[in-house]
Amino acid sequence: GATIGILGGGQLGRMLSVAASRLGFKTCIFEPNADCPAAHVAHTHIMADYSDTVALTKFANACDVVTYEFENIPTEALDLIEALTPIHPNRNALATSQDRFLEKNFLTRIGLTTAPFAAVDTAEALEQAIDQIGTPAILKTRRLGYDGKGQSRLMSPDDADQAIADMAGAPAVYEGFIDFSIEVSVIGTRSSDGAISCFDPGENVHKDGILHTTTLPAALTPSQRTDAVLLTANILNALDYVGTMGVELFVTPNGFIVNEIAPRVHNSGHWTQAACTVDQFEQHIRAIAGWPLGDGSRHSNVVMENLIGDDVDRIPGIAKTNTEIHLYGKADAKKGRKMGHINTITGPAS
Ligand code: ATP
Ligand code: MG
Ligand code: MG
Repeated sequence: GATIGILGGGQLGRMLSVAASRLGFKTCIFEPNADCPAAHVAHTHIMADYSDTVALTKFANACDVVTYEFENIPTEALDLIEALTPIHPNRNALATSQDRFLEKNFLTRIGLTTAPFAAVDTAEALEQAIDQIGTPAILKTRRLGYDGKGQSRLMSPDDADQAIADMAGAPAVYEGFIDFSIEVSVIGTRSSDGAISCFDPGENVHKDGILHTTTLPAALTPSQRTDAVLLTANILNALDYVGTMGVELFVTPNGFIVNEIAPRVHNSGHWTQAACTVDQFEQHIRAIAGWPLGDGSRHSNVVMENLIGDDVDRIPGIAKTNTEIHLYGKADAKKGRKMGHINTITGPAS
């Protein structure tokens, strides 16, 4: 059988491996850490650093197609792999979503709305951005941020010095603060022949900068749901994307504002495991393998809750008959660490 290569061995890599193996594929993960969530389920684990060209070559040669579970893969590693084996989603989609400034430019170019933004590399540029966009606002590093890391909030122009210090010299993007009513996300998949299947939008609540729950159905009107799905399809087509993507949206009285996109399966799509015939992981594997997509329609109402740090100790108490439990096999339940999630079916789809 064919082998699917996955760059990154975290929980997303683990769940992609499980989906791939259920479809009859072997998986090979590339991940420097020995004790990573995907290592326990993948067929092969190449344990090496992204600068190890011998290991990267071995990895690429062992795989028929390569995908990834995180955005921050060094360009040189990707160049080496791509010379030997196709990578999906494509390099342009990855480059665009690795950098918040390029991402916002792209979204604006295809006619979508983002928060007002400006690139900020210096204290002078920040002063200009504050003049132009105003406060409150958030300064975010252009690259490498996740779970709210690499962000500094400015309530007034007086917070400028602190914000510059928080960036520690990293190139940043200044974003006007959006007064949204709720946050939703759409998980969508595009196949190699251009077919698109989007899951129903889910409503997201964050706690301490980390996703806490995703609830279906989201509090949206039918026409808002259609809009959210169509704008996601717009993004997938514009990037000539193959695979699953997460699109985070702010809901405002003037329509959707795109917060960010992720070129991979997404934490806010984990509910699909319990409430859809085919989940986001299987859709991704089907797409990158050149298969037709499955039926992503939702048969149930559901709440996904992340188990962060010692939340995982609650497992015996929350294991109910309507609850699907996913644990990632991580050894120590450090503060802020995603240990698992639970999907609770709350009724038939409404
Ligand atoms: P993730 O873990 O989702 O990748 P991240 O570190 O990339 O998170 P963002 O999604 O940019 O961070 O921001 C985290 C949260 O902060 C958002 O979900 C939203 O609640 C809030 N937030 C971010 N940007 C804005 C904004 N411009 N206006 C209002 N709230 C915002
Ligand atoms: Mg993000
Ligand atoms: Mg986010």
